[in-house]
Amino acid sequence: MIKGSCCCGVVQFELAEQPVMMGTCHCSRCRKVGASNLVFVKSEYFRLVSGRDQISVFKAIPPYKYDRCFCSACGTALGEILSEEESFPLAANCIDGDIGLENQFHEFVSEKPAWLKIGDTARQFDEHPIEP
Ligand SMILES: [Zn+2]
Ligand SMILES: [Zn+2]
Repeated sequence: MIKGSCCCGVVQFELAEQPVMMGTCHCSRCRKVGASNLVFVKSEYFRLVSGRDQISVFKAIPPYKYDRCFCSACGTALGEILSEEESFPLAANCIDGDIGLENQFHEFVSEKPAWLKIGDTARQFDEHPIEP
């Protein structure tokens, strides 16, 4: 069981299986909400243990697709934690244990600020990843 939580501990969740994928998004939205490192989890393996009523949602403005959730008490970015999709992105920063994964790609590298240097060898995409 992999556990996760926000900074103040109000929001707690569990993953019965490790996430399926990990990626880093350099778009300005992910950067500003502090959730550039994302893991993709399957909803069947995800359980929100506590803090449901403390989670706030910043609604996506088209063409952006994903809503951004965060703890309204401490501000921790939680990714798409309230998603009802089969698979959804969760901010890797709020996972407490080892997820058994390393970053697999960088997306929206075209929006990456110059001060940030990519330090791994994962594939880089200017926008959304293209399947090989
Ligand atoms: Zn919190
Ligand atoms: Zn992004």
